[in-house]
Amino acid sequence: MRCFVLLLAPLLTACALGSDSQRFVPAEEWSPANPSLQDTARTFQEVSRRVVAAASAECRRQTNRPNCTFGILVDLDRNAPTNAFQTLDDSDQPFIIFTQSMILAADNGDEMAFVMGHEAAHHVLGHIDRQAKNARESARIFGDLARDTGANAEEIEQAQQLGAEVGVQTYVRDFELEADRLGTVITYQAGYNPLVGMEFFKRIPDPGDRFLASHPPNARRVQVVLETAAKLGLTQ
Ligand SMILES: [Zn+2]
Repeated sequence: MRCFVLLLAPLLTACALGSDSQRFVPAEEWSPANPSLQDTARTFQEVSRRVVAAASAECRRQTNRPNCTFGILVDLDRNAPTNAFQTLDDSDQPFIIFTQSMILAADNGDEMAFVMGHEAAHHVLGHIDRQAKNARESARIFGDLARDTGANAEEIEQAQQLGAEVGVQTYVRDFELEADRLGTVITYQAGYNPLVGMEFFKRIPDPGDRFLASHPPNARRVQVVLETAAKLGLTQ
C-alpha cells in the first residue's frame, strides 16, 4: 500500500491512494471513454512527459534529493473537486495528482504545464518536509509556553495543536510564491509558455489578503510569474 502526505491539507497524513488503487491511473494510461475528451487526454499526456523531463532535470540539478522521478496520476473519481496536488509515497517518490475536473478546467497545454510545473516545484523545494518541520517546532514552542503557565495536559495538547497550525499557516503563502517562481522556470524549460499558463489564475477564486488564506492573492502570484518570466526573456 502506498501512503501519501497531502501538502495542501496541512497536518493531514493519509493513505489517500492505497485503499482505492482503481481510482488513480498513470497519465500515460488515462483513456477517457468520452470521445470528446480524447484530444484533451493526448495533450495532457504530452504535457506530462515534457514537464516530468524538465522537473526531474531541475530536481537533480539543484537538490540532492534521492528521488527526482516524478509520477503523474489522474484521479478518475468524477466527483473529486477541481484540484491538483503533490504527494510523496512511502518510499519518498514524488507524485503529482490531477483530478479529471482539473484537467478539463485548463484551456490548453500551457495551463496544464503551468499547474504541473508549480506542483513539481513544491517537491524540488522540499516543501512537505519544511512544512512538517515548521509545524513541529511551532507546536513545541506553544506547548512549552502553555506548560510554563501551568496548563494541564489537555490544555498543553490543545496549545500544541494550535501551534502546529500556526507553524503551517505562517509559511504556506511563501511556499506558494516559491513554487510559482520555480514552476514558471520548469514550465518554460518544458517548452510551454508560463505567461499563457498563468491565465489560469484569472479563473480561480482569489483568496485576497487574509492572514489565514492558504494561498497568496492572485495579483501577487501574477507579479511573481511576470518577474520570473522577464528573467527568462519572456514578455507579454
Ligand atoms: Zn502550491
